[in-house]
Amino acid sequence: MDKIPDQREIEEELRDYLRKKYGDRVKLLQTETAPWPQEGAESSRRARSSDADLVRFDLKPEELYEYLDRYVVKQDEAKAVLATKVCTHFNRIRFERRYNLEGLKSSVGRIKNNIILIGPTGVGKTYMVKLIAKKIGVPFVKGDATKFSETGYVGGDVEDLVRDLVKEAEGDPELAQYGIIYIDEIDKIASSRNLIGPDVSRTGVQRALLKPMEETEVELKSPHDPISQIQAIEEYRRTGKSDKQTLNTKNILFIVSGVFNELADIAKKRLKAGGIGFSKEPSSPDDAIFYLGDVKPEDLIEYGFESEFVGRLPVVTMLEPLTEDDLYQILKNSHDPIICAKKTDFRSYDIDLRFTDEALKVIAHRAGQDKTGARGLVRALERVLIPFERKLPSTDIKHLVVVEAIA
Ligand code: ADP
Repeated sequence: MDKIPDQREIEEELRDYLRKKYGDRVKLLQTETAPWPQEGAESSRRARSSDADLVRFDLKPEELYEYLDRYVVKQDEAKAVLATKVCTHFNRIRFERRYNLEGLKSSVGRIKNNIILIGPTGVGKTYMVKLIAKKIGVPFVKGDATKFSETGYVGGDVEDLVRDLVKEAEGDPELAQYGIIYIDEIDKIASSRNLIGPDVSRTGVQRALLKPMEETEVELKSPHDPISQIQAIEEYRRTGKSDKQTLNTKNILFIVSGVFNELADIAKKRLKAGGIGFSKEPSSPDDAIFYLGDVKPEDLIEYGFESEFVGRLPVVTMLEPLTEDDLYQILKNSHDPIICAKKTDFRSYDIDLRFTDEALKVIAHRAGQDKTGARGLVRALERVLIPFERKLPSTDIKHLVVVEAIA
């Protein structure tokens, strides 16, 4: 039986139908009853089947691009690259499943479309990967490369992320094997270029990632977690069997990201040294964006990554810093979770919250000064709203319109 769609899925279907039938002439108004992505967390969780067949393996890049475009302001290149490579990753899995090629020799040595995202903080890197995982219907976990211990337990940390995928998939390893692992601050594990000789601890972290990024079996019960181990011993005592479940990582997509300071300089030096830099001069006022758009594997190696590590990450794309106007566009977007969350906070006191355009511009301007991308928006909004959030619930006021003067 078909699963019952949630509100967002119904809206999306209607929107697609209207677009096909009427082009841009008719639009569905956002109901904004609850913010996304928290919206209906429980029901969508229940609706998510334990059957990995519900994964949208057949999604086309154009459809995923359009979906991202609905939520994400700017970042056209990253949207296009992510939409394309992620869809290809899942369609290839579908192809292999369909012809039962999984596990056959043909998949040996195949290169996964693991991706590097380069860009400053708060510009949509995590947001895009989360949106993609939600659209495709696969579990998503985020880790931080700086948290990987440098004491020989690194492999364990990486494997913990794989185990977290199983938790995200509500214990369903079938679904977890198609998950997405996102690792931020990856630039912090590049070996330091100022050192003489290899930077053992950081290259150690890179090496620990090589196998999981390609293919390895990860034990589902952590060998470092005493509770899991006690459970395993208990099970063995009870059944006389050791139930060693593992998860293969060959279909798990790895997306890594970082700010990569100085990488633009490395690319620029290479272009100038090759004498080809001048056929193509920076068109962007920001030099760094131009050169980052042309990053090559050798630049990443020069930056401090092992060539094997770079080889596991064949797709590189870049996200641009957000301007004040971009921040304003984010606030104006009816899908924006930041504004929706605030509206829901007020609605939970029965108060209807609205903003004038001018007020949104002031908030965007203030957020822009934070230099933390869209993250500054939350802070700027809170600053304006907290006094009202405190006082209004004790009054009879049911409508609040934030105008320029109070923003
Ligand atoms: P990072 O690039 O550091 O991973 P995030 O993707 O976590 O930053 O951004 C934080 C929040 O800011 C997101 O959850 C989203 O609400 C908002 N945001 C960031 N960039 C964009 C963007 N380009 N378009 C729309 N919203 C954005």
